[in-house]
Amino acid sequence: MISWNEITSRAENEGRTYLMEHECKELLEKQGISTTGASAARSSAEAVEISNRIGYPVVLKVLSPEVIHKSDAGGVKLNLKNAAEVERAFNEIETAFADKKLAGVAVQKMASPGLEAIIGVSRDPTFGPVLMFGLGGVFVEVLKDVSFRILPVTEADIDALIREIRGYTLLRGYRGTSVDLPALKELLLKISEMVMRYPEIREVDLNPVFLYTDGNVVVDARIFLEKPDAAAPRLSPERESTNLRGLFYPESLAVVGASDTPGKLGWNVFDNLLRHRFTGKLYPVNINAKTVQGVPAVASVREIDGPVDAAVILVPAAHTLKAFEECCQKGIKFIVIESAGFAETGEDGKNIEKELRRLAETYHCRFVGPNCSGIINTHHQMVQSIGTVGELRQGNIGLIAQAGVYAAGMLWGLRHTMDFAIVATIGNKADINETDILEYLGEDDFVEVVCMYLEDVKSGRRFIDVARDVAAKKPVIVLKSGRTEAGKKAVSSHTASLAGNDQIYDAAFRQAGIIRAADNEHMFGLARAFSKQPLPSGDGVLVVSYTGSWGVAAADALSLSGMKPAELDDETYRRLKEILPPYVGCHNPVDCTFDLNPVQLKEIIEVGLPSGNISSFIVILQAEILQSYVEELKKIDYQGKPILSCVPCKEFAISEVIALEQAGFPVYSTPEEAVAALSAMYRYAMGNC
Ligand code: ADP
Ligand code: MG
Repeated sequence: MISWNEITSRAENEGRTYLMEHECKELLEKQGISTTGASAARSSAEAVEISNRIGYPVVLKVLSPEVIHKSDAGGVKLNLKNAAEVERAFNEIETAFADKKLAGVAVQKMASPGLEAIIGVSRDPTFGPVLMFGLGGVFVEVLKDVSFRILPVTEADIDALIREIRGYTLLRGYRGTSVDLPALKELLLKISEMVMRYPEIREVDLNPVFLYTDGNVVVDARIFLEKPDAAAPRLSPERESTNLRGLFYPESLAVVGASDTPGKLGWNVFDNLLRHRFTGKLYPVNINAKTVQGVPAVASVREIDGPVDAAVILVPAAHTLKAFEECCQKGIKFIVIESAGFAETGEDGKNIEKELRRLAETYHCRFVGPNCSGIINTHHQMVQSIGTVGELRQGNIGLIAQAGVYAAGMLWGLRHTMDFAIVATIGNKADINETDILEYLGEDDFVEVVCMYLEDVKSGRRFIDVARDVAAKKPVIVLKSGRTEAGKKAVSSHTASLAGNDQIYDAAFRQAGIIRAADNEHMFGLARAFSKQPLPSGDGVLVVSYTGSWGVAAADALSLSGMKPAELDDETYRRLKEILPPYVGCHNPVDCTFDLNPVQLKEIIEVGLPSGNISSFIVILQAEILQSYVEELKKIDYQGKPILSCVPCKEFAISEVIALEQAGFPVYSTPEEAVAALSAMYRYAMGNC
């Protein structure tokens, strides 16, 4: 049998980056994958001789480095039953492709019909090789019903890849037939292994693969090659990581560019640090001022007596390198560059970032930014934000954001209903990136929920590995902007044309167990639920409402999201009937009408709590008497069961909403939003994001 090297060097010698069908099938057979086979015939006599050997019926296909889509041009002759038909088909192909460089005609067995599938691999600039699976024909052509996973994959990833397509029911069984799922899984794993073994494979297209009740067979195959790019995402990246605790809990902090002039950014940052009573020593550094906001200042970090753990740099971009090098020389291990005017402005800025990276490597330090709004750690009373930030409550949410607004402008409002532990803005991420911070937040005991706002991801594979580890310990909620198709790519295979940027991110997030948010509102809605309430242990929900229509909306939303209004067991039914007024029907949702009041709500919840069918609660409350619920809801022992509330027009009862939120009860504007949050918690609890 011909080896991989022989096949690829033959292609290279002929100036081809594309392997022909018979070569691909040989390679696949070598991996233990079953194909229809294909032998090249140079003459009609040879074609007949091969057909006689393999047995009829056979298929003849044009073999040419210049013909990629064979059937389009009449290059596929199916179901040839005897020597005469083979001879005729051979001659027809030769005539039809007279102007093409022919490598012969492939003779292969005619496979018996099966369910047609497509399996492919393409390369993504962020994540590297990506595996695709879907059903063939109209499913892929029209419905684009395909799913993706980033390689390498685990068996669980393959299970999810198969289950995710809409046509999964066809695989599992339809009109009495089902396909051999274990064999399909094995085929997908073998393809992944092959691609991981040979990095020169750029794209693979197996289209179609016939799936049978017993086994499967690859009917057509294409492989595109490319010299492996040293700069491309590494296949098995090493985990280079630094323990970033010192960045979040420095005992001493220098602020280079701290200002004594109100209104300047250097003033804001130092003011934030003072007002939030930073836990540790603060050193303002300013060449012109003797004191900054009453604290004695020095002209350079080198003049500071004693060690300094971390520094914030706020000086203009042009002076940043000097300030940075002085910090390095002082032995500072973590530096946050908040100044702007770097890679985001052009080549000069990019070069400064390169130089910053070089210095960081030389001095073994790490830096955040530039062009960011610093780090906040409420448990260390450290607020480095560029914008003034009011009082923050110590909380359990960790937020990572590329954009500075999350640590200043938006935080001004968010802090009323969300309690953060750490907020880290990463700006241009010339050194420390989202994955480094995520890895650290996974370790921080105060952080119980992680939110990320991302525009892009660096070193995609490491991101998946780290996120998967963290998501196994605490929920990771990601909002990724730029969902539309970005960047042109050379599209030669079917797979590559289907692998849009957003689908790949989506696959990566699923693979890592990340909860994907659709927008800011959704992300914060999820964060409020996860950070304030325990996870539900089942799918049954008791809905209590003051309005029948919103109760029904909640029930609909629950059913659509994989949860359900809990069935009332006999005991719960009996006790509810006892406490409900005669005009309230004893069913779920419980519609108490406008008479719903806090004491009644408390009683209903307490009747529902012991029921094994009820794992969580959604309550729909009147905005006009919202304040009255706070104290009563606080009195209940929820026994580890979550409760989410929904208040129509909540934005007009904002102080009451804040009171409820601060008491630990998340409030949503609509039943759908409340259900979206609760069902995300349920899926996370079930290990299925
Ligand atoms: P193309 O280059 O156009 O994709 P294919 O090799 O996929 O050519 O052939 C086109 C179609 O012909 C396939 O989708 C499949 O339905 C059918 N076909 C091709 N080869 C075989 C075979 N060996 N056995 C059965 N059907 C085949
Ligand atoms: Mg094909």
